[in-house]
This record gives sequence, C-alpha cells and structure tokens, in this order.
Amino acid sequence: MNLTGKTALVTGSTSGIGLGVASSLAMAGAQVILNGFGEVEQAKRHIAALGLEPGYHPADLGDPAQIDDLMRYVEQRYGGVDILVNNAGIQHVAPVHAFPQEKWNAIVAINLSSVFHTSRLALPMMRRRNWGRIINVASVHGLVASKDKAAYVAAKHGVVGLTKTVALETARTPITCNAICPGWVLTPLVQQQIDQRIAAGVDAQQARDDLLAEKQPSQEFVTPQQLGELVLFLCGDAAVQVRGAAWNIDGGWLAQ
Ligand code: NAD
Repeated sequence: MNLTGKTALVTGSTSGIGLGVASSLAMAGAQVILNGFGEVEQAKRHIAALGLEPGYHPADLGDPAQIDDLMRYVEQRYGGVDILVNNAGIQHVAPVHAFPQEKWNAIVAINLSSVFHTSRLALPMMRRRNWGRIINVASVHGLVASKDKAAYVAAKHGVVGLTKTVALETARTPITCNAICPGWVLTPLVQQQIDQRIAAGVDAQQARDDLLAEKQPSQEFVTPQQLGELVLFLCGDAAVQVRGAAWNIDGGWLAQ
C-alpha cells in the first residue's frame, strides 16, 4: 500500500489502537496528523521514526469548538484531509441506575458526536480533493451489547448508524465511509477494566484470561497492528465498493 501524498488525521492517536493505526499509515507513506493526550512527545517521535514528521493538534474531541480548531489546523497546515480515522474514545463501566450523568455526556460527546463533527468538516475537503476515506473505530459494542456499558454501547451503535448514513451520502463519489468493530484489544482502555478485576482480588493473569474467556473465543487479543492493516486495506482501491460496512475483527466474538 502506497499512501504517499495522502494526509491522514487519526483522532486519539497518542496510545493504543490510534497509535497502531497511525503507525501503519505512516509506514505506508501518509502524512499523519496525531491528536490525543498523555505521551504526546513519545507518540510524535515514534511516528517520525516510521515516516514523515507528524502533525499534532491537542483538541479535546468532547468540545465541538476545539474540533473546529483541529479541522482548521488540518486545512491551513496540510491543505485538507484525505483519510480521517475517528478513533478517540473513552469508557466507563457501571449499571444504568448508577451511571454518572457526566460520564454519559462525555462518552456520547467523545465517542459519537465527535465523529459527526470531524466528518461534517472533513467531507467538503474530501469532495474538493475528489477522494476520501472515513474510517470510524466503532467496536463489537456497536453491534451487540454488554451489561454495565450503557453509554459506550449506545454511542458505538450510533457510530455504526452514522457510518451508514455518510456512506449513502457519498455513495456516488470516490469517498467511502466504513466502521471497524474490534473485540478486545489490550490497550490502556481495556487495562483499566482488567485492573478493576485485579482490585476485586483476582490475580493479573487470571483477570486477563477471564476477560477474554467471557467474550472472545480465540482467547487472544486483537492487536493495534492488525487494526492498522485493516485500515490500510480500506484505504486501497480494492476496498472502493466497501461502503457503510461495520467490519468486525474480534476473535469470533460476534460469531456466537
Ligand atoms: P486508549 O485509551 O489507549 O486510547 C484512546 C486515545 O484517545 C488516546 O490517544 C487518548 O489520549 C485519546 N482521547 C481520549 N479522550 C480524548 C478526548 N476527549 N479528545 C481527544 N483524544 C482523546 O484506548 P483504545 O483502546 O486504543 O481505544 C481507541 C478506540 O478504540 C476507542 O474509540 C475505543 O472505543 C475503541 N475500541 C477499543 C477496544 C479495545 O478493546 N481496546 C475495542 C473496541 C473498540
């Protein structure tokens, strides 16, 4: 896959899946733009070592005004965006009756509404360039539910629906929009859930094994690198008729 000359914005790309996807895009020659918090300098160095010096914008994707700034930065600094990977996401685990309202609002804003805002601002740039790929990192929880994840499940189902609408609106153009739906990937987001089990008295290996055994028949984590490869496929010419898909990559989770 050669993405030389393409500009790729990956939201939430300072760790986990976003950094893995950004790495694959950088290795394929794309100009990558990073976003997210935490180990920013480390992520920038990692991407620079694989390809071009990355761009970076610190927008909080929970805030539409900051998303405006992010997309303005992309347009002014790089002339637009060809590949948009909507990946930023957070999780909170609690039953509905005890689910904090501020966590609901934050998850809906970051995991769902941000996808609307980045897409709405990226589409005119893609139409001008007459090419584009929007790849939304949803989840198996965009297609099935688990208990205690009300906001996350609702937001990810929303992302899958939004993906289909954008795919229909772009169906007669060289712009495609798809969702990818990973099962368990061992990232900080999932480590938090393993840590909750450890805090409840389970040993570390057992906590990981239990988490996988409950949902993922392969009993192995999906890796950020595998997700990066799927994103590269969706960027290619062979995937131009993949439109509005919700592509699960989940060790068999949804086959049950
Ligand atoms: P992670 O916690 O490792 O990474 C999340 C990234 O998003 C980080 O770069 C973080 O800085 C950034 N981020 C968080 N809040 C943000 C905000 N308000 N604005 C901008 N950036 C913000 O998590 P991950 O597991 O790599 O998750 C990435 C995506 O993959 C999420 O959308 C998540 O729902 C999805 N996903 C993860 C799994 C899994 O098992 N890890 C499975 C399915 C889907």
